[in-house]
Amino acid sequence: MATVELRNIKKRFGKTEVIHGVSTEIDDGEFIVIVGPSGCGKSTLLRMVAGLESVSDGEIRIDGSRVNEREPMERDIAMVFQNYALYPHMTVRQNMGYGLKIAGTPKRQIAAKVDEAAALLQLSDYLDRRPKALSGGQRQRVAMGRAIVREPKVFLFDEPLSNLDAKLRVQMRLEIKELQERIGVTSLYVTHDQVEAMTMADRMIVMNAGRAEQIGKPLDVYERPATLFAAQFIGSPS
Ligand code: ADP
Ligand code: MG
Repeated sequence: MATVELRNIKKRFGKTEVIHGVSTEIDDGEFIVIVGPSGCGKSTLLRMVAGLESVSDGEIRIDGSRVNEREPMERDIAMVFQNYALYPHMTVRQNMGYGLKIAGTPKRQIAAKVDEAAALLQLSDYLDRRPKALSGGQRQRVAMGRAIVREPKVFLFDEPLSNLDAKLRVQMRLEIKELQERIGVTSLYVTHDQVEAMTMADRMIVMNAGRAEQIGKPLDVYERPATLFAAQFIGSPS
């Protein structure tokens, strides 16, 4: 478990600044949703926390330590993407254990961790299947399992449900939220979907054009929007 601090984070691509100074402090075990329209900088912000994108200005701290210069593998972070590319030729067990295998974890330890995660994700009966023999929801759970087995301090999600149909999306929201509460890991979750943000967030960061327009609990943002954008974006159904 860990706290995450963003201190006046900026990002430039060439001469164009796309993140203009975002600051927030995320508590241990908190589920934060970054919500905003396409192109507002959600993925870029998340990728900077993950170390997949350099920080142009400002500081990122995990558990109080500056991580700007740390490689992604040294940040104790796991990321679940929208395109959760599982290896098609590997079984569920192999997919979930792969990260540990390349990190040199002993075989028996990998097996124990995969079994534990599979039980948590209701995948125990599917460990010998290949991804093509799974439903969309099960594949999504395998992607989560791959992240969980590494026991990260922080979970990052970038629109993990956007490839799923509407019904499954609603179900997976609950599953992810329940899982996060059970393992209590600090999470940053990106979505452009207001309903997803409202239903999942402990607190949400409403982003627009590279700025955090408002940071707060869903109901507070809904009832007391700080800006016209926040009012219109959170108020209007997706
Ligand atoms: P979101 O995830 O909210 O849709 P992004 O973080 O992907 O938004 O993008 C924010 C802005 O940064 C956009 O204007 C996008 O075009 C720009 N951008 C993202 N990645 C790059 C890149 N590698 N090079 C140049 N511009 C980029
Ligand atoms: Mg994005």
